[in-house]
Amino acid sequence: MESLDRPDLLGMAPAELGRQLKEHFRARGQPGYRARQVADWVFAGEVSAVGGMTNLPALERTALGGAFRLAEPAEAKVAESADGSVKHLWRLEDGEVVESVLIPAGRRLTLCISSQAGCALGCRFCATGWSGFGRQLSAGEIAGQYRAAARWARARGAGPITNVVFMGMGEPLANRRAVFPALTILNAGYGVGARRVTVSTVGVVPGILALAEREEQFRLAVSLHAPVSSLRAELVPLERRYPLGELMEALDAFRRKGGRRTTFEYTMIRDVNDGRSLVGDLARLALRAEAFVNLIPFNPIPYVDWRPSRPARVRAFLDALRAAGVAAAVREPRGRDIDAACGQLRAAAQSRPARRVSESDSRSGLPVSP
Ligand code: SAH
Ligand code: SF4
Repeated sequence: MESLDRPDLLGMAPAELGRQLKEHFRARGQPGYRARQVADWVFAGEVSAVGGMTNLPALERTALGGAFRLAEPAEAKVAESADGSVKHLWRLEDGEVVESVLIPAGRRLTLCISSQAGCALGCRFCATGWSGFGRQLSAGEIAGQYRAAARWARARGAGPITNVVFMGMGEPLANRRAVFPALTILNAGYGVGARRVTVSTVGVVPGILALAEREEQFRLAVSLHAPVSSLRAELVPLERRYPLGELMEALDAFRRKGGRRTTFEYTMIRDVNDGRSLVGDLARLALRAEAFVNLIPFNPIPYVDWRPSRPARVRAFLDALRAAGVAAAVREPRGRDIDAACGQLRAAAQSRPARRVSESDSRSGLPVSP
């Protein structure tokens, strides 16, 4: 394993990278343009190691490699779905694994990336939640998934990645220390437009407020899953810490910043959160936040007995939302045959869930498999 004390070239925003490289080359008596050469290699994304930076003299490549790391995640596994989506399992320097998924749709190629190895928030319907928390990813490990996946796609003629969503493993707003710089790196370094980057959160209120303060118009997806607090608390433990009322106030602040789109993600679980009686509450919240609602049929996981809502119920729910004036759509999960939904590959590698059924889970009386 490489030593972690050297700064990671992939973990710095362009301004900081330029500064550190200039200092490095000045100390070595090298011309000023060397810093730009290296930054170009970093953000063009063609080489996965300093050794490939062929316009640097061999001696300078060695010295650069001694002063910096280029810690791109290594491909541990690739799975291609019949529907065209591609899941990568990436191995990090310490052996942790995270995943990203490429999802082609028309002219778009969306990359779904991870922000943490595992997740500590333990949503009941989520395989990542059941897998427990591994560790935070660094900014370089987050941006590195983009860099490596983009090169993989280019090499196969799949074209450039047009959109990035933080909907892989982990809660991005519980890792702001790395995710916020990673947003800058994706936007200012790799040139992914802010409006093409979506941060998905289960409702970390301070994180939403901090995102609202950023100048770039990154998009926000809120994993709502239930429009009333008591039901939401059974699906999303974080509801107890940041209840719907506070979440909605944070979304008011986000909306007031202007020019920013919010979506509500609503995973539809049969007979759990798909009742017609919930539509009114959901519509009220969506209209207040000016949010687009994505209805996503639950993708079954091994740890709970829940099933996806029946298609007719999903359709009726959608129609009722639209009738209430809400912009909404049904999104079929992609890559089901390769377990591309949210942490399922990492979870499958573990023989049993890391998270134990908590007291509150057992009290709630909802079905939980052993
Ligand atoms: N932690 C963030 C981002 C990662 S999860 C969040 O929760 O928003 C990305 C999305 O996948 C979330 O909307 C989540 O609710 C959804 N998801 C998780 N498990 C799912 C499952 N089994 N079926 C359908 N959607 C799921
Ligand atoms: Fe974590 Fe999001 Fe899964 Fe909840 S849905 S456990 S916040 S990754």
